Amino acid sequence: HVKKHGANGHIVYSPDLKATSLVHDEIESALLRALAEDTVEVYFQPIVAAGSGQLRTVEALVRVPGTDGRHLDAGTVIAVAEERNLLAELDARVLRRACAQVAAWRCEPGFERLGLSVNRSAIDIGTAGFHDRIVAALTGSGLSAEALTIEITETVLLDATSTAVADLRRLRASGVGLALDDFGTGYASLSYLTTLPITCIKIDRSFTSRMLTDPTCRALLRATVGIAADLELNCVVEGVETEAELAALPAYERLLIQGYLYGRPSRGDVSTLVRSPRPSG
Ligand code: C2E
Ligand code: MG
Ligand code: MG
Ligand code: MG
Repeated sequence: HVKKHGANGHIVYSPDLKATSLVHDEIESALLRALAEDTVEVYFQPIVAAGSGQLRTVEALVRVPGTDGRHLDAGTVIAVAEERNLLAELDARVLRRACAQVAAWRCEPGFERLGLSVNRSAIDIGTAGFHDRIVAALTGSGLSAEALTIEITETVLLDATSTAVADLRRLRASGVGLALDDFGTGYASLSYLTTLPITCIKIDRSFTSRMLTDPTCRALLRATVGIAADLELNCVVEGVETEAELAALPAYERLLIQGYLYGRPSRGDVSTLVRSPRPSG
C-alpha cells in the first residue's frame, strides 16, 4: 500500500505514488459515475449462529461496478472514497439501501428478528452529524435501532474525548449495536473495549485462515473468544471457509460465524443467503 498513516496520523507516501494515484483516479471516476447513475449496489453476507447455523444477521457490503461492468474491490473503493472525500456520500447510500432491504426482509415470516450490520470507518464517524445521519436512516426505513449494528474499522484512532466517541455512545444508548471489525489487526482493538460500549467483537479473517496451521493464530483466536465470553459480548469469527475450521472453533453460546462456508455476499432473496446444503468434509 502506498498511503499509510504514520505516527501522528501523518500520511506517508512511498515511491509508487504516481502509479497508484492513476489507478485511484480511475476508481474515483467509476465511483462518481456509479453515484450519478445510481448503480451502487449493496450485497449481503449471512452471519449465522455457530451452534445451529441459523441466520442471525446480514452484513451489508458495497459493490461498485468498474468500467468493464465487474465489481471493483470493495476495500480499494472505500480507500479511494476516503481519500477523495466521497465516503460520506457512498456510506449514506449503502446505509439507506441496506436499512430499507432489511426492514422489508423482517416482514417475511421467520425473519422478524433479522439483524443488519453496516461498516463505517472512523473517518466518517468523526464527521459532523454522524449520529443524526444514522438515526435519520433508521427513521426513514422504519428499521428499529436494535436491529442495527455499526461495524467500526480502525483507520483512525478515536480518542476517548472525541465527538465521534460521544456519537457512538449516543447511538448505543438508543439501542444500536457496536462491533469492532477486523479485531486483532489494529493497534487499538483492546483499548476500544474500554472506551466504547462495544456489543460485538469480529475476529479478523487472518486469524481464521491460519488457525489450522499456525498455533499462535489459533491461540489468539481462542483467547479473543475468551475475552468476548468474559465480557458477555457477541463474537463473530470472520472468514470461515471449511468444515475443518468450523470444527476447530472454541465453544461459546454467543459465537457467530461469517464466511464462505455459510454464504458469500450476494443479493436476492433472504431465504437463499445461507448456503444449503452445507458442503461436507
Ligand atoms: P469487512 O467489513 O471485514 O468485510 C468482510 C470482508 O471479507 C468482505 O469483503 C467479505 O466479502 C470477505 N469475506 C467474508 N467471508 C469470507 C471468506 O470466507 N473468505 C474470504 N476470502 N473472504 C471473505 P469485501 O466485500 O471485499 O469488503 C472489504 C472491506 O471493505 C470490508 O471488510 C469493509 O471494511 C469495507 N467495506 C465494504 N462495504 C463497505 C461500506 O459500505 N462502507 C464502508 N465504510 N466500508 C465497507
Ligand atoms: Mg465489516
Ligand atoms: Mg471484518
Ligand atoms: Mg476485513
